[in-house]
Amino acid sequence: MVHPSEDHGHAPSGLGARAGDQPHQVARGCQVLRDGGRGEALPLSRASEPSAAFAFGDWQGLTASFVRAARESPFVAAQLERSGLSAEQAVANPPAWSRLRPTRKHDLIADQDGAPPYGSRRCVPAPEISLVVESSGSTGKGREVHYLSRDDLGRSSRAWARYLEEMGIGAEDVVALTFPIGMAGGGVRHWYAYVETGAKVLRVGGLSSERKLDAIRYYGATTLVATPAYVDRLAVICAESGCPPGELGIRRLVVATQSLSAEWIEETERLWGAKLFEWYGTSAGIAAFCCRLGMAADGRRGTLHWNPAVAAQEVVDPRSGDPVADGQRGELLGTPLINEAEPLFRVSTGDEVRFVAPRSCPCGSNWPGIESGTVRRLDAMFKVKGINVWPAQVEATLLEDREVLDYRVRIYQDGGKRERVRLEVLARPGHGDELAERVSRTLQGETGISFEVVANHDRERWSQATAGEAAKASRWVDERIGT
Ligand SMILES: [Zn+2]
Repeated sequence: MVHPSEDHGHAPSGLGARAGDQPHQVARGCQVLRDGGRGEALPLSRASEPSAAFAFGDWQGLTASFVRAARESPFVAAQLERSGLSAEQAVANPPAWSRLRPTRKHDLIADQDGAPPYGSRRCVPAPEISLVVESSGSTGKGREVHYLSRDDLGRSSRAWARYLEEMGIGAEDVVALTFPIGMAGGGVRHWYAYVETGAKVLRVGGLSSERKLDAIRYYGATTLVATPAYVDRLAVICAESGCPPGELGIRRLVVATQSLSAEWIEETERLWGAKLFEWYGTSAGIAAFCCRLGMAADGRRGTLHWNPAVAAQEVVDPRSGDPVADGQRGELLGTPLINEAEPLFRVSTGDEVRFVAPRSCPCGSNWPGIESGTVRRLDAMFKVKGINVWPAQVEATLLEDREVLDYRVRIYQDGGKRERVRLEVLARPGHGDELAERVSRTLQGETGISFEVVANHDRERWSQATAGEAAKASRWVDERIGT
């Protein structure tokens, strides 16, 4: 169904509207949702310009969407009850909104268990549901089920396509999509979005690495979508076949979110002769994409933006729940504004990010965002010798060291059953013992734990040992018995 008030025709060619744009030129994305499937169009958003008081998305769109969902979704009503707020109180102003308790994974799982398979949060008749996706379930706490109506899928694909177009992707592109098209959201939603841009999508996820490369060469792929580890792996296989990756013709590498050092970005772009872009996505439909500046430009990290008419994504201090200022780190909470089937508000991502306020990115966009290359998990924690170790803390320390390109950690018990932590770092050529000693000393000071640090220089062998196609490759392995 096409909504007459949906208007993509006036969107400016750049990302979002610039400060000097006239109001009629402001990019508005998807603006209406039907009222609970009854066909009545409701205005969701008047403009995509985030207000000064609420820099994370379109406040009017958010509040209209929330008031309606609170009437229709027992799940949202329960969220209000947990928060001790009425719907009207929650949307009174941004400070009141920040008192609305986030939607957490266990809330979603309990809701599904109570009313399988879609939970009480379903706001359209089941036959209207079009796409069902699952979270990866890697935490062992159960799989979230998320779903889109046919109209949701259309809106979402157009919104994602718009993000991809900002990266320069269009009908002339051939895209090698290495993610499997499975139950997880990433592969299939990318497929829809790239197809929406008019690009040709090579669904190479199920092929061997060699056949992937054959397809890339045969069809003249311009864009490679992969995990950072798999980008490295393909480069090695390509070089082994006698062809430097730079000769493949790939102009754009689009990678899934992971913390990445500035050096990895620089070296990978040089090796492939291509520009790196990043996207952020969760199964609940929270998404952000690099702008045309990519993961790094002019020596600074890029930005993953979202369209404020499509999503309100807040970055809050995990302790106080208060919104953070431009440049500060906090937890990302996401609210998609274009979903009628499963309206969710303030979904906790468990990811710690750095907020980039509207117009802070050098691209000049008024779309808010988060810093590219520095998204970290908040909740992961290991206990070693009774001491809590947060990978995010270790990672932050390591990635500050210019000589460290990558790292991996193994927690194990030695012959005497002592707990040990072995840290291997991929170092820039020419840096070894001194680096290992420095890293070990710094980490001991930061965490109170002694790390056995080994420096490695062989980038090819490193990527063979760490490559995988999992969307979020784990750098931490815990081999202790009973953990
Ligand atoms: Zn930007």
